[in-house]
Amino acid sequence: MSIRNAVLIVAGGQGLRARTDVHSNPKQYVQVLGNAVIWHTIKLFLASSKTDVILVVVADGHENIYNQAVLGINDKRLMAAIIGGNSRQQSVFAGLTALSATNPDCVLIHDAARPCLAQRSLAEVYASLSTHKAVLVGTPVADTLKKLGTGSLETIDRTNIWNAQTPQAFDFNLIFDVHRKAVLENNTSFTDDCGLAEWAGQNITMIDGGTGNFKITNPDDFELAECILKGRSIMLNDTRVGTGYDVHAFEPGDLVILGGVSIPHNKKLKGHSDADVALHAITDAMLGALADGDIGTHFPPSDPQWKGVSSDRFLIDAVRRVQDKGGKIRHIDLTIVCEEPKIGAHRPAMKKSIATICNLEEDRISVKATTSERLGFTGRREGIAALATVTLGLPEEI
Ligand code: MG
Repeated sequence: MSIRNAVLIVAGGQGLRARTDVHSNPKQYVQVLGNAVIWHTIKLFLASSKTDVILVVVADGHENIYNQAVLGINDKRLMAAIIGGNSRQQSVFAGLTALSATNPDCVLIHDAARPCLAQRSLAEVYASLSTHKAVLVGTPVADTLKKLGTGSLETIDRTNIWNAQTPQAFDFNLIFDVHRKAVLENNTSFTDDCGLAEWAGQNITMIDGGTGNFKITNPDDFELAECILKGRSIMLNDTRVGTGYDVHAFEPGDLVILGGVSIPHNKKLKGHSDADVALHAITDAMLGALADGDIGTHFPPSDPQWKGVSSDRFLIDAVRRVQDKGGKIRHIDLTIVCEEPKIGAHRPAMKKSIATICNLEEDRISVKATTSERLGFTGRREGIAALATVTLGLPEEI
């Protein structure tokens, strides 16, 4: 199977300049806001639905510290790390060689020590890749530049001078071919991948990543990274609340699916999809919070392709819509109304299933159940109703 976008994160360096008594680890493994720098870097790419796979290249001997740093990341898009070479160029080549097995269309090559890349810059890179084969994120030089000679100082014209940052993004075959050519010609002089693309005569498009996309280099930089990352999480203060409600009737059968969990029962729920009334209510609540239609808008029951499908498909789509807006799910509160089956014993499994689908901690998910005191259609055991409230944090429009 071929994938569209791979991300290659280079974490092979020893980070010697950033080492202090406080930070004895290489810089990409130093803790910032409770997680390693590299954890933040991986997370920023996982936050985009355009990212299909991520491969990290680590230095020989860093396997344990890396695995420890990413322990909490539970996302299938993150591949097992590989060991790099002695130089950045060698590490990137090792990464591209490993990634070639996944046959990606494009690759974004990024420094592990740049955890502050803004989502809007990443979105711009992904968008440019549909029309360009090589894209460089950088920022125009703001300071006056001086060249120090023997006993003399010379001012350099900074017009059109940019700092090259990462990601540096390419058509996969283009950059892999140039790296292979460099190996064959024993040309090991390149300090970044755009350098290789320039060597191959490739046109490169520049995107301004801003000064926030800096590379952690010196000990003071950790504090700056912390400020930027903290500010960003606080800025998700456009709070949205959405509600969802759904009903499905019983029909003859032997199990019901609720919250993605199969529960043996003497009836089943009737519906076009798998009739998971709980996931439908949550999906509608999420779409409501986004003010983006409802489940029927995006998955019309009249469309035969949704017949019998597992309802996690609908919820995964809503979660992707939240991510595309740079938002975060804060909380999900689900209430299931029925006389039967009894929900209590299945509550932990439902929480776990919803947590997996939404990529959310279980303590942000509430699953409740009630009867309607034998009143109405749920009371007469004719079907199940579900209500959900979803709270989102969206980036505040500036
Ligand atoms: Mg429904």
